[in-house]
Formats: sequence, structure tokens, C-alpha cells
Amino acid sequence: MKTIEYYLKSPKNLIKEEKELQPLVAGQALLKPVITGICGSDVHYYLGHKDPKKLQERLPVILLHEGVAEVIDFKGQAPFKQGDKVVVIPFLACGRCSACLSGLENLCPKSKYMGATGNGLARELLVYPVNKLVKLPPTLDEEVAALTEPLSITYRCFKDLKLKPSNKILIMGEGPMGYLLAVVLSQFGKIIKDKLYLSGMFEEKLKLAESFCQTFNIIKPSEADNLDKLQGQFDYVFECVGGQAMKATVNQALNLLKPGGQLITLGISDEQVPLNINKVVNNGLTIKGSSRSLDQDYLEALNLMQDKDTQSLLKRLVNPNRIKIKNLEDLQMAFELASDKSQIGRIMLYW
Ligand SMILES: [Zn+2]
Ligand SMILES: [Zn+2]
Repeated sequence: MKTIEYYLKSPKNLIKEEKELQPLVAGQALLKPVITGICGSDVHYYLGHKDPKKLQERLPVILLHEGVAEVIDFKGQAPFKQGDKVVVIPFLACGRCSACLSGLENLCPKSKYMGATGNGLARELLVYPVNKLVKLPPTLDEEVAALTEPLSITYRCFKDLKLKPSNKILIMGEGPMGYLLAVVLSQFGKIIKDKLYLSGMFEEKLKLAESFCQTFNIIKPSEADNLDKLQGQFDYVFECVGGQAMKATVNQALNLLKPGGQLITLGISDEQVPLNINKVVNNGLTIKGSSRSLDQDYLEALNLMQDKDTQSLLKRLVNPNRIKIKNLEDLQMAFELASDKSQIGRIMLYW
């Protein structure tokens, strides 16, 4: 059987290739992607906004790692049948390194992650391990299910902390990760609006969270001032901005934390970020990184996502431009749209 695969060959240069699929062996499933989201990391690769060495090592690569697929066929035992929809867990850990052996597969340095160190979902058909697929709960909206990967990452981050309802929390960055984290803290962490703050630059994106977060638009001087007035008051600050901006946001976060507070970084930067280390030492602050999630997090997140209120909050994150992918031009157009930072939420592709 043949399939069409779309590779990012070099920045902004997507190509199409026809490949022959190998016959399935036990433990493998043949999948047809149905809905995939374009993640910020896909856009970074597409635009070439990555360490040049990494780009050289990893390209060409098939992008996209967030999505729902249909099971066309499988060999051996499986907890689903042909025609079922599944969420794809997009990483394969090595299973042998010290991270894997201590239950931290999400931090495996040798893992194959779709759309980065492994090939992703931008293809007509793919073969993937049965044990890395989770059947969609029947009451879960398929577009919402396509958000499971980024949601599971924020869910893992939440589970690693011991938040109390009395904690005062700031999320910096109103992009999809910041928004999803806000949903997780509000819905699963039961943090009330009085205690949950979100800062960002895009009014329309901040609006999505206004019903359950106090929001600050840092471009407006009055709101930036109001945030400044909260220095030394937060138990937790989550950095979800990433990139160049981290040079400012990380130190701003250190100022906003109360003594003994924690900064959790989900944003990433290929450049070094200078740190006001005296602030960390004198105030006994903790800085913790958070990255990726475990298989278990996908299962738990999918269960929790079925809640009606949670689904409707997550649905707000689906960009209204839903794009049907019939050819290379459609995919190119979708990536151009996703490269526009003012676009709200996840752009979903239909295959
Ligand atoms: Zn992602
Ligand atoms: Zn490993």
C-alpha cells in the first residue's frame, strides 16, 4: 500500500513524497490522521527558528504531533477496533536510560518525538505502535481530543506540584500553552478566579480566559502597572512565553514571587537567559522546568476532558479557520496562517 508523506525539507520548504508502506507486524496499527493541530514547535521548525545545528540534524522531518487518527487496521491485540478514533501519543521513549528506568519517560533524552526527533502526522497513512494509541471516549469532541497532547503537558506540570486552593498563581503567556494551563488549574486544580492571573499581549487571546482568570494586557501601561503592584505576592509563576522574551519574563517572574515561591518554566529559548541569582538565593525561590508528559497523563487527561464545562473551555481554543488538507498547497497555506502570531488558538487541519 502506498501513502503520501509531507516533509519539511528546509525552512518554509515543504515537499511531498510517495512511499510504500511495510506490512503490519504484531503490535502495530495502520492509521489515517483525521484532525491535527499545528503546534508552536511545528511553526518554529517551519520558519527555521531553531538552533541551526538541530535543524541540520533533524530535517527533513514530517511535522505535526497533535492529533486524532482513525484505525484502519492492526495486528495482534488492541483495546480498539477498526474504524475507531484514537489519540496518538507522539513519543517513543528508549525504555533503557536512567530517566526511563526511574519512570520519567517524558524526559528520555533518546526519545523519538513526532515532528522533531521522529516523523509526525503530516501524511495520509502511517504505521504506529498499538500501545501508543488511546481510544477516544465516546462523549469527547474530536477537535477537543486533538488538543490532548498540549493539555497532557500542562496536566503533568500541574500534577508535579502541590498547589493549594489558597495559592496565588500567575501564568505568563496567553498562547495555547498558557491558556491550557489556566484551564487545567481552574478545572482540575479548583483555583478560583480571585487567585488565578494570566498575562499577555493579545487582547482577543486574553478574552478567552476572562471568565475564569484575572487578565493583564502588559501592552497597556495601566494594566502593566497593576501587575507590577503585585510584586512579591505570588506563590507560583508559570512562564509560558518562551523565546527572546524570556530574558525579561524570567526576571520579572522572580520579582513577582513571594519568598519561598516557585517559578515553573514551560517556555523554551535556544538562547541563554540571564538570571537575577541574588533574588533566587535571598528569597529562597525554586525554579523548576516542565516538559512533556507520560502515557498515563494522556489517559487521565482524556478522562477529565470529558466534563462538559471543561470541553467548552477547551473548544474556545480551536481557531475558526479549519483547513482541509487535499494537497501540498493546502498544507503550506495552513503553516503560513499558523505563523501569524495574532491568530487565536490552535489551527486545526482536517485530513
Ligand atoms: Zn505540541
Ligand atoms: Zn530513555
